[in-house]
Amino acid sequence: MSTQETHEASDQLMIELKEMNKWYGDFHVLKNINLQVKKGERIVICGPSGSGKSTMIRCINRLEEHQKGDIIVNGMELTNDLKNIESIRKDVGMVFQHFNLFPHLTVLENCCLAPIWVRKEPRKQAEAAAMKYLERVKIPEQALKYPGQLSGGQQQRVAIARSLCMNPDVMLFDEPTSALDPEMIKEVLDVMIELADEGGMTMLCVTHEMGFAKTVADRVIFMDAGQIIEENEPHEFFNNPQHERTQLFLSQII
Ligand code: ADP
Ligand code: MG
Repeated sequence: MSTQETHEASDQLMIELKEMNKWYGDFHVLKNINLQVKKGERIVICGPSGSGKSTMIRCINRLEEHQKGDIIVNGMELTNDLKNIESIRKDVGMVFQHFNLFPHLTVLENCCLAPIWVRKEPRKQAEAAAMKYLERVKIPEQALKYPGQLSGGQQQRVAIARSLCMNPDVMLFDEPTSALDPEMIKEVLDVMIELADEGGMTMLCVTHEMGFAKTVADRVIFMDAGQIIEENEPHEFFNNPQHERTQLFLSQII
């Protein structure tokens, strides 16, 4: 079933970047980024290594600070206010390339940590919710194991479940399959496709998995040298790229 036909994003804006700029020291890493993402929209971000993809999505949950322009997430402007940052972290889940699980905690403990300590949920309730999400990513039987006892694909599915346990409005994925062995990529993408199919979740995913982009994305964004160069719905993006740099990039990865 194609997700495109069944899915409709609402008109409500979930994320807005306005003339956003970021520097690392003297290095101008993000240049006048303008981006609007509607609630429920699924965006794939691609582009060459070093183009600023990770930095841009890390700015959206304030893992990185921007210096100029505005970032508004779920109606809240991102500033240095700690309350504000705390609240953004509750709304926005993130899945990293290298899983970033706590190695000394079991799968279940990894999933329950933030619900218990940040959301102040009772342990029993947090554990029940975590088991539900571990079932959703198809590894409930791994709940009492440690991350080191799991395959890369299983660890990444734990990382996705852990994010979902916080009940986020937005999920950010930063190359979630690029550290995985080829045979494990599909099991992670399938979980992400299911999540997208359920609807309602706003998803931004940095990936070069173009099959995933074609199945799931409402919009594909191409970045190069700190700028958004081109964006379009997937069919047009892949079949009719406008910019020379997009054409070059696509010719190299497809
Ligand atoms: P991408 O995810 O598209 O590969 P990044 O956002 O990781 O790109 O990096 C964009 C640019 O910023 C690169 O040139 C990278 O070397 C530089 N960069 C990333 N993180 C830092 C940092 N913490 N300090 C300085 N430069 C950085
Ligand atoms: Mg990156």
